[in-house]
Amino acid sequence: MTSTMTLSVAVAARIDKVLSYTCEDVERPADIPTGALVSAPLGKKLITGLVLDPVPTQFGTGKGVKLRSIRSLLPSEVWLTKELVELMTWCARYYHIPLGKILSTALPNAVLEQQFGSLEHPKIWQLSSSAANDENIQQLNRAPRQSALYKWIGQQQQCTNADIKNAGFDLNLLKQLRAKDLIVEMELQNSQSCPAPSTIEKPHSLSDEQSDALKHVLTADSKRPLLLKGVTGSGKTEIYLQAAEKILQKGKQVLVLVPEIGLIPQTKERFKNRFNAAIHIYSSECSETEKLQTWCAAKTRKPAIFIGTRSTIFLPYEHLGIIVVDEEHDLSYKQQEGWRYHARDLATLRSRALKVPLVLGSATPSFESFHNAQTGIYKQLTLRRRASGVALPRIQMVPNQSSQNLSLPEESLMRIQDTLDKGAQVLVFINRRGFAPRVLCTNCGWIALCPQCDTALCKHMQPAQLICHHCDYRISNPTACPACKSSKLTTQGLGTEQLTQHLEHCFPAVECLRIDRDSTRRKGSFKQYMDRVNKGEPCILVGTQMLAKGHHLPRLSLAIICEADQALFSHDYRAKEHLGQLVTQVAGRTGREIAQGELLIQTSFPDHPFWEQLINRPYSDYAEELLAEREQNELPPYRYAAFLRAESTDIRALTTFMAIAKDAISPNQTGLEILGPMPSAIEKKNRRFRYYLSLTAARRKTLHENLSQISYQLANLKGFTKVRYSIDVDPQTFD
Ligand code: ADP
Ligand code: ZN
Ligand code: ZN
Repeated sequence: MTSTMTLSVAVAARIDKVLSYTCEDVERPADIPTGALVSAPLGKKLITGLVLDPVPTQFGTGKGVKLRSIRSLLPSEVWLTKELVELMTWCARYYHIPLGKILSTALPNAVLEQQFGSLEHPKIWQLSSSAANDENIQQLNRAPRQSALYKWIGQQQQCTNADIKNAGFDLNLLKQLRAKDLIVEMELQNSQSCPAPSTIEKPHSLSDEQSDALKHVLTADSKRPLLLKGVTGSGKTEIYLQAAEKILQKGKQVLVLVPEIGLIPQTKERFKNRFNAAIHIYSSECSETEKLQTWCAAKTRKPAIFIGTRSTIFLPYEHLGIIVVDEEHDLSYKQQEGWRYHARDLATLRSRALKVPLVLGSATPSFESFHNAQTGIYKQLTLRRRASGVALPRIQMVPNQSSQNLSLPEESLMRIQDTLDKGAQVLVFINRRGFAPRVLCTNCGWIALCPQCDTALCKHMQPAQLICHHCDYRISNPTACPACKSSKLTTQGLGTEQLTQHLEHCFPAVECLRIDRDSTRRKGSFKQYMDRVNKGEPCILVGTQMLAKGHHLPRLSLAIICEADQALFSHDYRAKEHLGQLVTQVAGRTGREIAQGELLIQTSFPDHPFWEQLINRPYSDYAEELLAEREQNELPPYRYAAFLRAESTDIRALTTFMAIAKDAISPNQTGLEILGPMPSAIEKKNRRFRYYLSLTAARRKTLHENLSQISYQLANLKGFTKVRYSIDVDPQTFD
């Protein structure tokens, strides 16, 4: 009997088990560490796999098991750190999902697809030493496009192909410039692209509150995350910057998470103006090459700043010095499909494992974080005043006029005019893109519904289509009712397009910018809008959720929220938390630098007691009051929750599955409360019916013991191939 080395490998595929492979096809198998990534055969394919077992075990091959060998090792530049492997194994237990799924979510596509071309030649361009020669430059007189690129490279000093493409240049121009000896291409390693970081812009001298907070950040105990609760514009970012300075000086890496792609340019700008240091961006807007390079940069021990959305939490940082989660309350940190992880929660784990401070910043902390601060799990730092000294915005209710025909109330229009007259900017917030959310026939009552979802189709003008916002089903705008052929079609409700049209009509003299997912689809377009706004001309911004978050708009002095009433009557116990955050955040965009800002909330229920609870008092009082209600009603964060979610095109298979799942759970439960099965908030989406079971327990351990059993039982349930299910731990939404 011969014995060979074997490795336990988690493969990035839909497989529950960790697999064993031999290392016959690779050299020096004894050197393969935990965290190495390999190319492993699975069926007829080669899949990326993660080596888990640090010590290759002896395994007899004479037991009738024929193990396959891993095919090759992936480049060591992309391997995971041991700490990251531990994080992922923890996640597999906590979220009750296979490691393979975690790998598919966390690894960049280039690693999953084993495309490392861009790794071998991470080239950068700079001016050649002969470039200063006048004759050479004269060659460019008749080549304006080459000349422009040449000047641009000179300004950048060094840049990659990706930078050049992003700046709008044709990559073919590079060849021409190189042929003229004006630029040279260098290996990244040999270049001076990583100078020792230095500080360029002079830091602000901090207020007492800020210096106190900074002191705590720099001496923080990694076991206790810091909740930096600072009113909007109180200088939280300034604290991140000054903390980052100290970390970079120690030669370490800085990680800053932001909730949305739209916030990246602003954050990058702040860091770029402050430091002469490498800044790496990681988001779905990055090309696969950029993502791979950022991934690899995390593995080097070079000091650098990493800025990105949710998934940036998975990079293999080798030398991290601090983690900042900005706008920590934002729901975007929780993935809403597939593996539903929460980046903020993973940040707490990484900070503990890497022994680095974690700063969770927000003007409106999530109730979970508030609760954690109340119970001492987090340490709370508070900034009560705006850095500019300007008072916090006033908030006022504006009753909707009953006879109103979709126009804004008179009072709102007047306040907009006043603001524009003063030379300031206005934000009108509405959380719905498109022209109108419903199209109906006044003759027969027909409503345009999505055939694949249980929702109405939204009317859009650009392009002129009815679009489903859940599955993207599209048809052209009907001219007659398909049911009765009448032409009496009308719309109900308001979206950004219609609101913009309306405001353009009322205020023809100023620019009206619509900023939503449709108008910013093109890469970089959001930044272009922001650049226009930041020029400071009076204008009206019509925006969705995208604009409510963290943006610094110095000239904005009036904001209006249209249609906030839904949350007053919502079944979601989080609706009021989110409305409170939205109101405070939208108000917080105003009056940041010059004079006190103002927020108007348009409502059909100005006397609803909720408004009194929320308005013109500190957000923390509001949060405490609502948290007390949650405690009384035994809701999270006072109970631990998970949903068993399932979906299928076959409603009968789905309901049977749910009933069986519930029965399977019930006899085993101890201290577990089961509710449902219930339809999700969007019951049918993309032809699939969707149901969930709610599982809660007073102790986290009870919940997770039950979840382990449930996932085991469900994995062994036969005959439900048509049903897809997943466990959503710490669910945030009902849809
Ligand atoms: P936040 O992140 O809390 O919204 P910022 O850090 O963006 O706040 O600060 C708001 C504005 O105040 C920015 O323009 C910033 O440059 C400025 N600022 C921050 N701290 C100070 C300070 N100590 N002195 C003067 N200005 C400051
Ligand atoms: Zn009709
Ligand atoms: Zn649909």
